[in-house]
Amino acid sequence: MRQGSGAIAEPCHQPMLYIPSALYKDLLDHGTRASPKEACGILAGRQGRTTAFYPAVNVEEGHEKYSISPQELARILKDLEGKGLDLIGIFHSHPATPAYPSVTDVELACYPDSAYVILSLGDEPSIKAFSIREGKVTDIPITIEPSMG
Ligand SMILES: [Zn+2]
Repeated sequence: MRQGSGAIAEPCHQPMLYIPSALYKDLLDHGTRASPKEACGILAGRQGRTTAFYPAVNVEEGHEKYSISPQELARILKDLEGKGLDLIGIFHSHPATPAYPSVTDVELACYPDSAYVILSLGDEPSIKAFSIREGKVTDIPITIEPSMG
């Protein structure tokens, strides 16, 4: 389902996202542990290549919402900057719904240059990434890379 088709898409800040398979497993573990609540965290790396995952505490009470406390977010951003990494993606899980941004996800999205990475749990977990810019959702292809060594 797409909206706003017909408009010429702006060049996406991140045309492709790479996630090492070991890190993908960390995302799955984090999401599974938090279920039935949504899990959240931050992906960091360089030029679309994810090298670090910062799991965060979801401070929301409901099952279909997530947010990272400003204190924890500030601490994560400071740490990744200290390591010379960029904020690549904002991760959260959907324990019972597909890997697509909810209406709330789109309304609350405030990092247009970041990828929104959504993991859908269930029998067949799937992970997808999106750019959310001024209410417009665009797919960002994800490649899960075999981890080295
Ligand atoms: Zn969501």
